Amino acid sequence: MSIVPEKLESIAAIAATHAADVDRGAFPTQTLDALRAAGLLGFTTLPDAQIVVERLARECGSTAMVVCMHYCGAAVIEKHGADDVVQQVGAGELLATLAFSEPGSRSHFWAPIGIAKTDGKDVLLTARKSWVTSAHKADVLVWSSKPLAGTEMSTLWLVPRTTPGLRISDAQFDGIGLRGNDSVPVTAEDARIPATSMLGDDGAGFGIMMGVVLPWFNVLCASVSAGLMEAATTRTAAHAGGTTFQHAGSTVADLPTVRAFIARMRIQTDQTKTLIADTLAAMGSNRADTMLRVLESKAAAGESAAQVTDLAMRVCGGTAFRKEVGVERIFRDSRAALVMGPTTDVLYDFIGKAVCGQPLF
Ligand SMILES: Cc1cc2nc3c(=O)[nH]c(=O)nc-3n(C[C@H](O)[C@H](O)[C@H](O)COP(=O)(O)OP(=O)(O)OC[C@H]3O[C@@H](n4cnc5c(N)ncnc54)[C@H](O)[C@@H]3O)c2cc1C
Repeated sequence: MSIVPEKLESIAAIAATHAADVDRGAFPTQTLDALRAAGLLGFTTLPDAQIVVERLARECGSTAMVVCMHYCGAAVIEKHGADDVVQQVGAGELLATLAFSEPGSRSHFWAPIGIAKTDGKDVLLTARKSWVTSAHKADVLVWSSKPLAGTEMSTLWLVPRTTPGLRISDAQFDGIGLRGNDSVPVTAEDARIPATSMLGDDGAGFGIMMGVVLPWFNVLCASVSAGLMEAATTRTAAHAGGTTFQHAGSTVADLPTVRAFIARMRIQTDQTKTLIADTLAAMGSNRADTMLRVLESKAAAGESAAQVTDLAMRVCGGTAFRKEVGVERIFRDSRAALVMGPTTDVLYDFIGKAVCGQPLF
């Protein structure tokens, strides 16, 4: 996949057009269709995926997160999928997602409770997945279970959405933010898939989660946060500069406190982008601090996005409570990064362990 900047801009415009509908719960089908037509849904590099996700997030957080989950699933499939599915996902024909989180292990996604058992040439999956982005629309789910045998923590599977025994909740996702994400529970009761659907070896799930999913998800989730922050900062500055106190002949941006708030927003946004860029540079040259940067990128971006969008709500005043400034949706969307696994607090614990020379697990 190669990014043509003008094409990405026209796709971002489509995401912007549909953002309000998506915030009311519509799935971002039009933007995904445009990404597919432009060749941007197939296999890609993480730096290219980062550009796409951050740009989309400036217009619509839900759309960016759907694409983030797709790229994460596709990265696993590219490395470990069977030839036919690799070809289809590589060509951008299928939408992928991750089905890791369960009510039993909650945000500790690396420790599934759900099981897999052998039945002839098939495998039967039984689990409750608590959140699956794009649940009603994704063609394939990258699914975690306990291994078939042995004491390792997990095994990954490629599970088509139409698999018999899979039940997708018919509830509509009704979260505070990312409302077009279609993140609903999915249950498997003896869901039957061919044994050849295993992604990697039996028991290799934890290694793939840490080696593939974690870097992709952390960098792309951080990029959703960065895009949201960029939009919040730009819109807040435009609002402050264009809003007058007629009786005093001044604008909101003439207030030194407001300018200082906007300065803080700009600094945190740029710090986040710089950290993401350095994380990609570390990964590209296999630097010794790569894992630290991967952990830091999502933690810092999630925390900063919450602070920057909080400031946007404050600076834009009562007007921000309504939808016309366009920062309240960004404020709501930004909260998800804090609690999506690995959550910010789990990342702080991991980073602290890494810095203190302790094992992460
Ligand atoms: C919009 C959205 C989309 C999602 N999409 C997907 C998806 O596509 N696929 C998927 O698999 N999952 C998905 N998730 C689930 C997500 O990754 C988390 O599993 C989920 O948000 C965790 O919620 P919980 O209530 O179980 O948190 P809990 O695990 O109950 O956490 C509660 C609190 O405890 C803290 N905590 C937990 N463990 C520790 C620790 N060791 N140290 C310090 N603090 C800790 C957490 O940080 C949090 O503050 C999605 C979530 C959201 C919000």
